[in-house]
Amino acid sequence: MAKKNFTPLNLPLPDWNKRKMTSRDFEAACEHEGIAVQRFRFKSETRGYCQRQDAKPVIAIDSRLRGNERLRVEFHELGHYYLHLDNPRLPRMFDAQTHEVVGGKEMTPEQEWAECEANMVACVAIAPGFIGVVELAYLSVKAANTNWLKGSAQ
Ligand SMILES: [Zn+2]
Repeated sequence: MAKKNFTPLNLPLPDWNKRKMTSRDFEAACEHEGIAVQRFRFKSETRGYCQRQDAKPVIAIDSRLRGNERLRVEFHELGHYYLHLDNPRLPRMFDAQTHEVVGGKEMTPEQEWAECEANMVACVAIAPGFIGVVELAYLSVKAANTNWLKGSAQ
């Protein structure tokens, strides 16, 4: 199950935010959490997604990705798993696009925030220790927007 009270800065992975993560770290985290990892060639512009299929968490990654782009998508989706997957106000499926439109609908502020957080998870995975300014902005926005972050209706 996705856990509560995690942020992009304190995910429960060994050496998180201390060293650069690898695809092996991603695979180990998925194994530990019972996440099924699927790798195949995507036919759309989507590069990855995270969702539940019959209650079981699934992360799919485009099998053509390499290097930092693969890490970016892997940890973006893993971020959605830890931070967003069981939030009833967010869509049930997250993909790795950063468009402001998902499924033809504009994203809510909370959805945009979720994508921002998932991107931040990817940043921490690839460049730990280089995000001080981002962290400050993150905490400022979070503090200033408690209402819509924790609000009920969207
Ligand atoms: Zn996303």
